[in-house]
Amino acid sequence: MIQSWGYAAPKAKAPLAPYTFERRDPGANDIVIQIQYCGVCHSDIHQARDEWGGSVFPMVPGHEIVGTVVKVGSAVKHFKEGDLAGVGCMVNSCGKCVACADGEEQFCQKGANFTYNSSEGGVTTQGGYSDKIVVTEAFALRISPKLDLAATAPLLCAGITTYSPLRHWKVGKGMKVGVVGLGGLGHMALKLAHSFGAHVVQFTTSKNKEADARRLGADDVVFSNDPAHMKKHAGSFDFILDTVSAPHDYLTYLNLLRRNATMTLVGLPDKPAELPARGLIFGRRSLAGSLIGGIRETQEMLDYCAEHNIVSDIELIPISKINEAYERMLKSDVKYRFVIDLATLPKP
Ligand code: NAP
Ligand code: ZN
Ligand code: ZN
Repeated sequence: MIQSWGYAAPKAKAPLAPYTFERRDPGANDIVIQIQYCGVCHSDIHQARDEWGGSVFPMVPGHEIVGTVVKVGSAVKHFKEGDLAGVGCMVNSCGKCVACADGEEQFCQKGANFTYNSSEGGVTTQGGYSDKIVVTEAFALRISPKLDLAATAPLLCAGITTYSPLRHWKVGKGMKVGVVGLGGLGHMALKLAHSFGAHVVQFTTSKNKEADARRLGADDVVFSNDPAHMKKHAGSFDFILDTVSAPHDYLTYLNLLRRNATMTLVGLPDKPAELPARGLIFGRRSLAGSLIGGIRETQEMLDYCAEHNIVSDIELIPISKINEAYERMLKSDVKYRFVIDLATLPKP
């Protein structure tokens, strides 16, 4: 085993604090990544506070990981020492089921091995608020040196989670697309949908985000807590992507869809929503969901972002500010993703 250290939540709702633990020795197919930056996803908060249930503690969160390869196993083909590499929300899967065969490991029928708060080979996985990670090269992503490394980290979750549904529902030119919530996922959805050529409308509850939304690519901005403003767009959207982290009313957005159009949820609030069937029946509308993206598509997204110069807008923080960052995210006070600089992680 090799020693690793980071910040962990010792139990639900307790502040994160320094924590030392062990990672497996790298095997023939594994690489060791010295973590340089890790993005802070709202899913980290949901899990560190056990809002979805079933959390395992102590928990080192973090699944937007980028850094440098410092060791490679004897059978590793695609990475060498000194390369940049990334790890997103998964570190392994069964590799045999139909979902894995389709390259959609997030839907692995045996359950994907998630980067933290999950297990791999019977051992609890621990995430990227830490100094290093050991991962099979099949789940490591190639990172372009062309992009700012810290601002690339959020692509590993916020990027792929929005890229995948935008591609699946074929968002592009001639489509009117709504993005609900301007946070970490929302701002990536906005940049990506804009770059795919869609007419993009940003829905926000925060009046002070309008100018940013336009700078990030929105053709229009709608204040979702203003019913009259919402009504102006009734029946006009080809696709809506909902990234909101807290319970809210889906019906108001379904009513904005055109006939046969789809609204897809990626935001995963801790409580179920009530949904009157008429929101779907009138207009034959669909309500769908989407979970991150497979490894092949994550690499495709990273390559697309490198080619089109797309990264996240970030606020870089030392790891000592992580608890404060959580509190600020809960107040929608982040522009638009916190990223931890792991050079600030004290060695035990
Ligand atoms: P975030 O940065 O905190 O952004 C969430 C945004 O939602 C806020 O900026 C805010 O936008 C809006 N919002 C927050 N509370 C609201 C409320 N009460 N009513 C209406 N709007 C509200 O979070 P994130 O990291 O983007 O994550 C968003 C959600 O996606 C989380 O639930 C997370 O767990 C989930 N997630 C899912 C996947 C997946 O694979 N499906 C992957 C990653 C994350 P405005 O200020 O613009 O209103
Ligand atoms: Zn995430
Ligand atoms: Zn599988």
